[in-house]
Amino acid sequence: MYQYSRAIYRAIKDLIDPYATKTTQLEYRRAVLVECELTMGRLADDPHYFARPDRALFADIRRYFPITNQAQVAWSVREGVGAATTFIEQQIEAGLLDGGIARCHATTRKGNACQRTPLPGRDYCPSHQHLERAAIVAA
Ligand SMILES: [Zn+2]
Repeated sequence: MYQYSRAIYRAIKDLIDPYATKTTQLEYRRAVLVECELTMGRLADDPHYFARPDRALFADIRRYFPITNQAQVAWSVREGVGAATTFIEQQIEAGLLDGGIARCHATTRKGNACQRTPLPGRDYCPSHQHLERAAIVAA
């Protein structure tokens, strides 16, 4: 799901308020990326129970964009979330998923299982990929 949140982020990151300071723009970009990843993570966890994920994501991030760019942001979000939803539905139909998606094998600092999607062909998500390297070195 990582590639879908990145694709949405890439499509809209340059639409962030151009009159904000550089620091603010960076903060906004980070916030937008986090919201994209949260939405994709939730979509992967609960594909059947997450109603209107595109609207939910747009509602969470619209404040980072000037009014004049919001129509384009809404469009990009709808396209990106639509592509991710189609992908998940195909996976479920093909029997590759039972409505959930493979999870990262790592445990978070709070002691919960990491809920993120592993990198393709890996056991860990982008944040925890160093653990896989550690396991390979240890082996
Ligand atoms: Zn992880």
